[in-house]
Amino acid sequence: MGFYPGQSRFYLNRSGFDLNQSDFDLNQNGFDLNQNDFDLNQNGFDLNQNDFDLNQNGFDLNQNHFDLNQNGFYFNQNDFDFNQNEVALWKYGLSAGQWNSNRLRRAVTPVIFADFIAAFLLGAGSGVFVCWRGAKIKMKSVAIIGAGITGLTVAFYLQRRGVPVTVYEASGRVGGVIQSIRQDGFLAEFGPNTILETSPKIAQLIRDAGLAPRKLATDPAAEARYVVRYGRPIAMPGTPLGFITTPLFTAQAKLAVLREPFIKPRRDGVEESIGQFVVRRFNQEFLDHAIDALVAGIYAGDPHKLSLTHAFPKLKALEDNYGSMIKGQIFGARARKQSGEVAKDRAAKFSFDDGLQVLPDGLAAQLGAALKLNTPVTKLTQTSQGWRVTTPGGEAEFGAVIYCGTAHRLAELEIIDGRAALQRRLTEVFSEISYPPVSAVVLGFRRADVTHPCAGFGMLIPKIEGFKILGTIFSSALFPNRAPAGHLTLTSYIGGARYPELGLLPPEKLVEATLADLRALLGVTSPPVFAHTKTWPQAIPQYNVGYGKYRALLNDLEANAANLFFAGHYRDGVSLGDSMVSGVNIAERVGNFLTAAAS
Ligand SMILES: Cc1cc2nc3c(=O)[nH]c(=O)nc-3n(C[C@H](O)[C@H](O)[C@H](O)COP(=O)(O)OP(=O)(O)OC[C@H]3O[C@@H](n4cnc5c(N)ncnc54)[C@H](O)[C@@H]3O)c2cc1C
Repeated sequence: MGFYPGQSRFYLNRSGFDLNQSDFDLNQNGFDLNQNDFDLNQNGFDLNQNDFDLNQNGFDLNQNHFDLNQNGFYFNQNDFDFNQNEVALWKYGLSAGQWNSNRLRRAVTPVIFADFIAAFLLGAGSGVFVCWRGAKIKMKSVAIIGAGITGLTVAFYLQRRGVPVTVYEASGRVGGVIQSIRQDGFLAEFGPNTILETSPKIAQLIRDAGLAPRKLATDPAAEARYVVRYGRPIAMPGTPLGFITTPLFTAQAKLAVLREPFIKPRRDGVEESIGQFVVRRFNQEFLDHAIDALVAGIYAGDPHKLSLTHAFPKLKALEDNYGSMIKGQIFGARARKQSGEVAKDRAAKFSFDDGLQVLPDGLAAQLGAALKLNTPVTKLTQTSQGWRVTTPGGEAEFGAVIYCGTAHRLAELEIIDGRAALQRRLTEVFSEISYPPVSAVVLGFRRADVTHPCAGFGMLIPKIEGFKILGTIFSSALFPNRAPAGHLTLTSYIGGARYPELGLLPPEKLVEATLADLRALLGVTSPPVFAHTKTWPQAIPQYNVGYGKYRALLNDLEANAANLFFAGHYRDGVSLGDSMVSGVNIAERVGNFLTAAAS
C-alpha cells in the first residue's frame, strides 16, 4: 500500500502523510526550514501567516521560488490523491522504477516538500492527518456553500492553511453575481463593474491569488461623476470652490452643508433611515438630489427604508465619534490612515484585463475537484462530528460548514441542529429580507452616435428626475478595453427598490426603456451596435431599518449551532470588497478554530 522509495523515508498510507524526524530530515536534504519558517511547538504544527508566509518570507507558491502551477510541480486532486494511496509522479517526468539512489535524493527532496505542501493545500476526504516530529493534527474538512466571491475567497485561504474544503455551488458557474462576457470586441459586465480597494486585505487577496499582473486600474481621467438635475447630467463638485459654484445644488442646500458641523448629534439610540439622517443633518433637497441617487447607485435601494446603522455604518460612526459628518471627515483622517482602511469615495477602483470574472475564475482554478457545480445544498444535519450536507446527488460529512450563499436561499435551506424550532425561524426570518430585482443593460454605440463625452465614472439619477434607469456607468471610459476603437460601452441599471416591476421587464423592453433615457440624457442618436441584458431577480439585499435582527440571529446561530458559520454580502456589507474581506475574515476565524480544535 502506498509508495516507499528507499527505506521507508517517504511513507504514504490511508491516514495521509507521515513525515517525522527519522523518516525525513528537512535540514539535511536541501530545504532549510528553521524555527522562523515553521513554528514547531509542543502543540503540534502551527501554520499561520506569521510563521510561514508563503508569499514573502519563505516559499513563494505563486511566483518566485516554488511555482506549483507553472515551473515543474503541479498538484491537483487527480495528480495526488491521498485517498487512493497513489502518488502520480508522471507530472514530474519521474517514475519510481527508474530512480537510482542519487537521483532519488536529488528528486525526492523537492518532491517530498511539494507533496508535503500539497498535503496542506489539497487535503481530500473528511480530513488530512499531518504528522510532524511525532505531533499529530487532524484538520477537519469544511463544506463551503456558494461559489460567489465570498465562498471562493474562504476556500482559497482555507486551502492555503491545509484545511480540506468542498465548495458547493447551485448554479453551473462560479462568481455568483459577478459575470463578464466578451463579444464582438465589447466586454460586458452583468453584475459589479469595479472593486473598491477599501481594505489592504483586498489587494493582498489579489496578490496571493497571483492575479496582480492582470489587475486593471480605472483610467485616472475618468474620475468625474455626474448627477442628473434639471434633466441633464451635472458633474459633482470635487473641491470646496466647485461646491460653491456648482449648479447641482441651490443656495439653501449649500448653506445646509455649511451648517452641518453645528447640528447637535442624535444620542437617543433610535435607529434612523439614511433619509431621516440626511434631512436632519442637511436638508430635503440634499436628500432628493444627491443622497437618493447615491443610494440607488450602491443598493438600488430606498433611502427612506435603508438603515443608517446597518447600510451606512461609517456615516453613523462619524456622527457618533465626531458629532458631525464634516468634522469627522476632517478630524478622522488620521484614524482612518492608521487602520489602513480607505473611505469608499477615495478608494482606488479596479477590475481585470478580461473583466471581474477573472477573479472568481482565478480563485476557482486552484480548487480542482473540490468544486461541485450544479450542486445545491438542500439540507444540513448536525452530527456528533460536525455536519452532514445533503444535495440532490447524495450526502457527505464535514467538520464544519460555512454558508456563503444568499439570505433568500438561506431561508430555503433545511437545517436540523437538534433544536426543532431552528428551521421555522430561518424560513420566517430570512425570507423577510428584501432583495429587489435589478437588470443590467449593456449597450455599445459608435462613438459618433453619442453626443455626451461620457468621460467619467458615470451618472447617477435621483428618483425625483423621473427617469426609468437608476444610473449609467461609462464602462469604456473607466476601462478602454471594454469597447472596440471608435465605440463606447454604457452599462445602465433598471429596477431596484425604486421600480422593482421595471427590473423584471423582458430584454427588448429593458433596452427600449434604457435607450429612451440615454437619448434624453446623453444625446444618443442611433440604435446600439451591441446590446445585452441580464436580470437578477433577487439582486442586492436591502439593509433596511431593523436589519440588526437578522445579524443577531446569525450571531445566535453561530453561537449555538456549533461549527456552522455565515459570511458574505447579506451579513458584512454589500460591496464586492466587503464580501472579499468577509471571506478573508471567516477563513481566518474558521482556520484558527479548526487548528485549535485539532491540537
Ligand atoms: C447588478 C449588481 C451590480 C453590482 N455592482 C457592484 C459594483 O460595481 N461594485 C461592488 O463592489 N459591488 C457591486 N455589487 C455587489 C457585489 O457584486 C455582491 O455583493 C457580491 O458579489 C456578493 O458576493 P457573494 O459571494 O457574497 O454572493 P453571490 O455573488 O450572490 O454568490 C452566492 C452564491 O451562492 C450560491 N448559493 C446560494 N445558495 C446555495 C445553496 N443552497 N447551495 C449551493 N449554492 C448556493 C449562489 O448560486 C451564488 O452563486 C453589485 C451587485 C449586483 C447584483
